[in-house]
Amino acid sequence: MSGQVKVVEKLRELTRNLWWTWQPNDLTLFHILDPDLWRETNHNPVEFLNRIPSDALEAAAEETALHSRIDYAFRRLSEYLKNTESWAALNAPALRTRPVAYFSAEFGLHESLPIYSGGLGVLAGDHLKSASDLGVPLVGIGLLYAQGYFQQQLDANGWQQENYLNTKFDMLPIEPVKAPDGSDVRITIDTRVGTLHARVWRVEVGRTILYLLDSNVPENNESDRALTSRLYGGDARVRIRQELLLGVGGVRLLDALGIHPSVLHLNEGHSAFAVIEMVRARMERDGIPYGEAARDVSTMTVFTTHTPVAAGHDRFPAPLVEEHLGVIREGVHLSYDDFMGLGRVYPNDPNEPFCMTVLALKLSRHANGVSALHGRVSRQMWAPLYPNRTEEQVPIGHITNGVHVMSWLSVPMRSIFNRHLGPDWPDRMSDTRLWREIKTVDDSEFWETQQVLKAALIKFVRQRLVLQAKRRNEPDEVIERHSHALDLNVLTIGFARRFATYKRAGLVLRDVERLTEMIASTDRPIQFVFAGKAHPEDHFGKELIQNIVRLTKQPEFSQRIVFVEDYDMNVARYLVQGVDVWLNNPRRPQEASGTSGEKVLLNGGLNFSILDGWWAEAYDGTNGFAIGRGESHAITSVQDDRDHDSLIQTLTSEVVPLFYDRDANGLPRGWIARQKSALITLAGRFNADRMVMDYVQNCYLPAAGFQSCAMPKN
Ligand SMILES: *Cc1c(COP(=O)(O)O)cnc(C)c1O
Repeated sequence: MSGQVKVVEKLRELTRNLWWTWQPNDLTLFHILDPDLWRETNHNPVEFLNRIPSDALEAAAEETALHSRIDYAFRRLSEYLKNTESWAALNAPALRTRPVAYFSAEFGLHESLPIYSGGLGVLAGDHLKSASDLGVPLVGIGLLYAQGYFQQQLDANGWQQENYLNTKFDMLPIEPVKAPDGSDVRITIDTRVGTLHARVWRVEVGRTILYLLDSNVPENNESDRALTSRLYGGDARVRIRQELLLGVGGVRLLDALGIHPSVLHLNEGHSAFAVIEMVRARMERDGIPYGEAARDVSTMTVFTTHTPVAAGHDRFPAPLVEEHLGVIREGVHLSYDDFMGLGRVYPNDPNEPFCMTVLALKLSRHANGVSALHGRVSRQMWAPLYPNRTEEQVPIGHITNGVHVMSWLSVPMRSIFNRHLGPDWPDRMSDTRLWREIKTVDDSEFWETQQVLKAALIKFVRQRLVLQAKRRNEPDEVIERHSHALDLNVLTIGFARRFATYKRAGLVLRDVERLTEMIASTDRPIQFVFAGKAHPEDHFGKELIQNIVRLTKQPEFSQRIVFVEDYDMNVARYLVQGVDVWLNNPRRPQEASGTSGEKVLLNGGLNFSILDGWWAEAYDGTNGFAIGRGESHAITSVQDDRDHDSLIQTLTSEVVPLFYDRDANGLPRGWIARQKSALITLAGRFNADRMVMDYVQNCYLPAAGFQSCAMPKN
């Protein structure tokens, strides 16, 4: 081995770029080297390599003949980084010199980089990964949270406990950003109450760079040092200061690095102050008046709104805005009233708080919701902002969310695709014709693959339940019971997401008697896996979790209803790859898109969902199951009752019978037909490559000054 680079060095190099997070074969490298340590570090390769002694690593690599695989991964990464024949090189060469700046308060790239809380973050992470795969010149801008969101544990009463752990920055694949003179880059923002300072880190996500601002620097006072501690953790004051840092700090950071973006993409309103800062900088640099600068900047700004729930839109009292933005307001020569008017639907109403979504809508020329239905709902919701237009004419379009396929696809399913769609299928995944070849997959091969994935989920759940019970010092017989939870042959329904009220986690459990019947059925039973966090301030969400946990403790349910703690991207991966059915029952039309069901269909699971968000445009009668017919009601209790009835009706008359209808070989032919239909009709549309291509063609290129905007609207 003399003269060769050590294994540990090569692996270190490989893990400096998050590219490995979507290379399933590379992931197994770490697992093979030391499965326990890999799990213990929460799949953090930097920590893994730090903790495993170098000699042991060399020996393990030798023994398992991993050298050539590591070399191969290494070569693939450098080829990937060098490749210039990307989709964007052909379709968006104009963006090459001036990239897109993509702002988001959270990024879900991998469980080992805990700077996300849920769907919004995972979507942003998937966006960066697809931008990288497609070669779209794009930089991400976010915040580096010292404690992230929180780790969820339940106490003996099923009540959620939030643990905030300090992330060890030296165990993350991040590097401080240096100025040309070698010093650390520093960003400063003057406010009425002093100067806010931040440093900057960079993360490589394939060919995309993500910059993260971090306020924990000695120049700040104690409370500002803690500003970037927690995601969505603080009061209005913390929030506005975080958003100031993200938006204004983000634009200053680009300037400090000499990056001149052609497009600003605001992923949700949190970062909308970026636009004001961009206007200020433009006025200062070019000596132009506010009106002209604002026109220029709004032309280059793309805004994506993510929720029709009123509480989901940040609103701040005007004095708080003045305290933090006052200096910049003077820089753009706007009066107090004119500036506050930018954040108000009715600019002259002094009692209306300053809304970040309103600011973003007023100062962006390209706005979109995240599904066709959400686009429609958003036009309705924001119509008062455009008094001279009909609802149809409100300038908010839609681009439906998609998921990054390689991050969510299981290894066995991927090998089916490799064989039946051709090895180059990942480059053509947005070609909807490609997926017709799924027809050629043998039914039993398809079914067996699903069984393997389901078995992996069950094994994972049992391990987690045992660990959870041991932590709570539960008696041995309980632990023993957990180690046998769930049954491979039983129809398995997954429900996992944030426990936000509108997602109605408790809906399916409302009629306990009926539930008992279905679960205890001797010939056609069902079982449930639940997971999800409630926001720390959300008492109602915590009660929902507690109610589920109480059910899991009843003897008749203990093997058939389980709650897996600490939902994160790792738990999500097992669930979306292993369940038979993914239940989604939001109160329509409050689920803007939802993406977890898209991960499920890729792996052969079936969606069983209210016709809301992406499912409203995806369901065609053959590719999953619908709850209701897309109706809603002004009285929520009426809507909840109806949806519950409809859920139980569809479950008992369609889902369960189809799953248990087996042929002589034990194959559920009708079920498999639906699984295939889901892939054929949906995989090509609801992936993040298609989503990013839509953003490039319908938003980024027009925003950068090429072609006109042609966002679909219907
Ligand atoms: C995909 C994903 C989500 C998105 O959930 P939806 O309810 O479908 O929006 C949330 N959290 C995690 C960890 C995910 O992986």
